[in-house]
Amino acid sequence: MTLDFLNKFKDPDLCRRLLARLEEVCGEPLRFMEVCGTHTVAIFQSGLRSLLPKNIIHLSGPGCPVCVTHESEVDAYLDLAGRSGVVIATFGDLMKVPGGGRRSLKAAQAEGARVEVVYSAFDALELAARTPDAQVVFLGVGFETTAPTTAATVQMAKARGLTNFKLLSFHKLVPPALEVLLSDAETAIDAFILPGHVSTIIGLAPYGFIAERWKRSAVVAGFEPVDILQALLDIALMREAGEPRVVNDYKRAVDDNGNPRARAVMADVFRTETALWRGLGAIPDSGLALRSEYADFDAKACFDIEIVESPPLAGCRCGDVLKGRINPTQCPLFAKACDPAHPVGPCMVSTEGSCAAYYKYNTD
Ligand code: SF4
Repeated sequence: MTLDFLNKFKDPDLCRRLLARLEEVCGEPLRFMEVCGTHTVAIFQSGLRSLLPKNIIHLSGPGCPVCVTHESEVDAYLDLAGRSGVVIATFGDLMKVPGGGRRSLKAAQAEGARVEVVYSAFDALELAARTPDAQVVFLGVGFETTAPTTAATVQMAKARGLTNFKLLSFHKLVPPALEVLLSDAETAIDAFILPGHVSTIIGLAPYGFIAERWKRSAVVAGFEPVDILQALLDIALMREAGEPRVVNDYKRAVDDNGNPRARAVMADVFRTETALWRGLGAIPDSGLALRSEYADFDAKACFDIEIVESPPLAGCRCGDVLKGRINPTQCPLFAKACDPAHPVGPCMVSTEGSCAAYYKYNTD
């Protein structure tokens, strides 16, 4: 029954009809950006990218949390990984991400640093409970999708008095980055396909500025081919009508109001601060830092961590890829010095990174 339901969103006949309608409606070139690593992969994996009408231009944005983690943030956690009495708990994706000096956690681990791969923030909390002789530092990366579970874990650590659990928070918020992208004349974005997962938490309201101030349309979309094509058709129709709006086409998963309970947990634990994004630079109010009530769990405060801006990786064009200014094949290192087995930048490390998706699926 569930499979039957999901198969409707892959229906080849419906996809063909949507593509034909898109061809009819979209006379002028339309540059759309998706800002979710899962959309990046879905568009390639389904073959949609090669089927879209030629005047619909697909740009991949900063939707991969690992990719937008700034070189300086990587250097900060590498610094921590070298300290005595510290165990780093991290998602596996971060292990190969290079900092400014091209060093990674994997290299630090090989040199003797205590680094454990975990599958959730809660796993890191349990690791802290089992390792009372060490300070267990969880590397918090990701957008509004993962920030609520990190926040809930910090609440649990406080309730259990587990002060050897620490969070190094590099969580980021999507809407401020969209505003930066819209102000980039070089990228010239006409519309966004909005991230389904993030939207389950924040709902539609935080995206209102896209239509109000920037007169662009944006559609929250699911991840099946029909979802993506329907979102593009809605974008094209709104442009034709001259009525830019923010629309939710993913109602089977996303409530227009998002998840107020998850937001309340985030608001209890985090405050916003300026964050550094790889490629996009410093964006005010786009990062999540621990509130003073949770200072005992804040790795930045407890270990006196200062984020010093590191230089971008020499030769790597991840910054321009994340801004949608170039596609990965335009990076001189793509598929030469840089491939998934030997990644130079984070966009080739993560399976949801644009460079890795182009490497695996692109047939342009
Ligand atoms: S191909 Fe490699 S070096 Fe080039 S932008 Fe992508 S990750 Fe960076």
